Amino acid sequence: METPKHVEYVLTILEAAGHAAWCVGGCVRDALLGRTPEDWDVTTSARPEETLAVFGSRALPTGLKHGTVTIKTEEGPVEVTTYRIDGAYQDHRHPASVTFTRSVDQDLARRDFTVNAMAWNLRGEFRDPWGGRTDLEKKVLRCVGDPDRRFQEDALRILRGLRFGATLGFSIEPGTEEAIRRNREGLRDIAAERIQVEFFKLLAGKQAAEVLRSCPEVFGVFWPELLAMVGFDQKNRHHCYDVWEHTLHALAAVPGDPVLRCAMLLHDVGKPASFTLDEMGVGHFYGHPAVSHQMAEEMLRRLKCATEFRETVVRLVEWHDKDIPRTDKSIRRALRILGEEDLRRLILVKRADNLGQAPEFWDRQKELDKAEEILNRLLAEDACFSLKRLAVNGRDLLALGLSGPAVGRALEELLEKVMDGALPNEREVLLAYLQRDLGTEKGT
Ligand code: ATP
Ligand code: MG
Repeated sequence: METPKHVEYVLTILEAAGHAAWCVGGCVRDALLGRTPEDWDVTTSARPEETLAVFGSRALPTGLKHGTVTIKTEEGPVEVTTYRIDGAYQDHRHPASVTFTRSVDQDLARRDFTVNAMAWNLRGEFRDPWGGRTDLEKKVLRCVGDPDRRFQEDALRILRGLRFGATLGFSIEPGTEEAIRRNREGLRDIAAERIQVEFFKLLAGKQAAEVLRSCPEVFGVFWPELLAMVGFDQKNRHHCYDVWEHTLHALAAVPGDPVLRCAMLLHDVGKPASFTLDEMGVGHFYGHPAVSHQMAEEMLRRLKCATEFRETVVRLVEWHDKDIPRTDKSIRRALRILGEEDLRRLILVKRADNLGQAPEFWDRQKELDKAEEILNRLLAEDACFSLKRLAVNGRDLLALGLSGPAVGRALEELLEKVMDGALPNEREVLLAYLQRDLGTEKGT
């Protein structure tokens, strides 16, 4: 079992001072799965003040109340936490007290899932009192101990569990899954920021659609808007699925990036509220992108998402149903408004939206191929779609005698002409055009 050098260093120093020390939790899980752990956690018999004393100036008292000391190493920080037992929990999230113990197994018993409750040390000893290794091999997520109790203690574990299901591609043991459903209301006590972090990691997971499908009512605790989509019959031949199934198929069809996954989850959230039935019995959702946009904005604010994330998602939601531009001119215009990154995202969103429809409409993919081709060509040609890319700048215009708002107006006009193909993006030509223009202006 491979332990990186900087973690080995921390374990060695603790052992040399007479303490027991183990790699524990997510890093052991990930290493056994052959994944690179994001962070390495160490659990030790040393009390926090002993850890501080052993590491001297390399140690930072980052969470003494919970027994955590951070050790600075060349390769990054390592969190060292004293073996502990959590006291009774308050408010579905925080233990009222923590007690330090001298038993690593007691520390493992407070951890959330069996696959997160394994430890190894430098002597090649491996602790796994809850059968985490077997569950890892069977790809099963199971609570340590009684699941109802564990979710009542800390409701964030509900989302952590679903998140691991989505990212690791594990199934959730039936008893654990039932307890997740039963205890979902506890999520109301969890801070929006914590929900947000777990939920967006979940959305980026390879099995996000399956997890969303398996228990929409859990996500409905913080986003009840999702529940109106479940089972909503579209009564339209473009669709072979209800709104929720369509959403999940579309979500699974975009790459595992939180922005794209979130845009897909919310792109049709306004459909139930926009539904009308015509005299032929056909369903329509006129104006649903605007309704989805407004709802998505509200939902993302509720989870306290970062502004840039929120703005990008709602823009994709707003644009998802517009015709995709398929001419040089219209692609340049879309680039002007969205920029390259978001236009590429929009193409992915539209591809996925289409793949979530009835298969006889999948030939729309060809239109998207065409748009992508033009986009790639324009970018390869270094096409001009922003003032930054224009062959002249403000200084050139000042030199021609323009000043004040006239500079901005002239630049905009040039950009319009270049984007429309009326003028080439060449400095000499643009300057000559301006001079002529100024000349006529002066003359009139
Ligand atoms: P990640 O890949 O996101 O880092 P992780 O399992 O390592 O996943 P961390 O938040 O780094 O998650 O926590 C490290 C370990 O601490 C977990 O593996 C688990 O043993 C324990 N742990 C974390 N959060 C909880 C919790 N809410 N309840 C019980 N144990 C927890
Ligand atoms: Mg971790």
